[in-house]
Amino acid sequence: MNIDINSDTPKLNLLGLDKQQIDDLLGELGEKPFRTVQLMKWIYHRSVLSFDQMTDISKKSRELLAKISFIELPVIKATQISSDGTIKWLLEFHDHQTIEMVYIPTEDRGTLCVSTQVGCSLGCKFCATATLGLTRNLTAAEIVGQVFLARQETIKVLERENPITNIVLMGMGEPLLNFNNSIAATNIMMDDLGFNISKRRVTISTAGIVPAINKMKPLTDVSLAVSLHAANNRTRDKILPINKKYPLEQLIPACKDYIKGSTHRTITWEYVMLNGINDSDEDAKQLVSLIKYVPSKINLIPFNTFIGCDYKCSSDSRIERFANIILEAGITVTMRKSRGDDIDAACGQLAGKSDKENI
Ligand code: SAH
Repeated sequence: MNIDINSDTPKLNLLGLDKQQIDDLLGELGEKPFRTVQLMKWIYHRSVLSFDQMTDISKKSRELLAKISFIELPVIKATQISSDGTIKWLLEFHDHQTIEMVYIPTEDRGTLCVSTQVGCSLGCKFCATATLGLTRNLTAAEIVGQVFLARQETIKVLERENPITNIVLMGMGEPLLNFNNSIAATNIMMDDLGFNISKRRVTISTAGIVPAINKMKPLTDVSLAVSLHAANNRTRDKILPINKKYPLEQLIPACKDYIKGSTHRTITWEYVMLNGINDSDEDAKQLVSLIKYVPSKINLIPFNTFIGCDYKCSSDSRIERFANIILEAGITVTMRKSRGDDIDAACGQLAGKSDKENI
């Protein structure tokens, strides 16, 4: 990082910098390494965003910091709370682009689902975000800013200390097509000087960008979920066009390799249940044999329909039968309950329609 404090270079949003990057920045300002610890503790442990209030940092250093950097959160444009406790926010960035973020409480955890792009370029046939196309990548600061804001807001609403226990990069966008920013943001989520959430509770979800999965291992320890949705190329080609570029025979070994060498890690395979498309007994058997050599969990997701989409969700009995075939093969399977249906916050429904309508 090259910082010239006298130039007109745009200021940096500090929320996007991981520990190493803050170290580098402060090093260039002539500061000692312990300043990084002080600064990160003010921001992430005490939620202080104004340099003025960081009283154990010298006035001179604070002035320097203010000259080259700032700390800014996205702005909340709307909030909706579902009858089941799910909260959805519409957030706006400085260029007026908007994204959605969802908080899902269950008995034993609170999961925050954050976005990584404005829109998405992948065109998956069953996903509402796909109808928007891609506008732009979010910066690391915009991804981290979502977590910061959600923590503030959920503490206010729920009056509890740590409402966010899990974070998934499963909102709008494909995290691995915004690689550097998604990795930097998850590093800050997992850092004990950052949000201090364990690596098992921070998950990147991908539709299967194979070269990016191959790049991850030396850089991160984050958990990986893969939107599989079909166990053969013929069906997967139809519903996830990215499969034509990175077919299953490339995707599965890349995922296996990502967790190789660690004894307690698994890949979570997400599988949306589409009536008559991917939900037969034969599909379930193919799924089992496709992933049987990878330490795995399978998450069956009820398909959430949206206007303009012809797919239907499989029946409850079909989903149960499908799950049983997987269970009988000795593989862990969970069935995701649809949450926040009444506010369009359910999985795959984040289409930012609220920027056209009043939510
Ligand atoms: N691009 C990433 C993350 C965003 S999608 C990915 O593909 O994983 C988050 C999850 O929601 C994915 O598993 C996606 O396949 C699923 N999803 C998308 N639309 C859906 C819908 N209408 N109903 C249920 N799940 C959906």
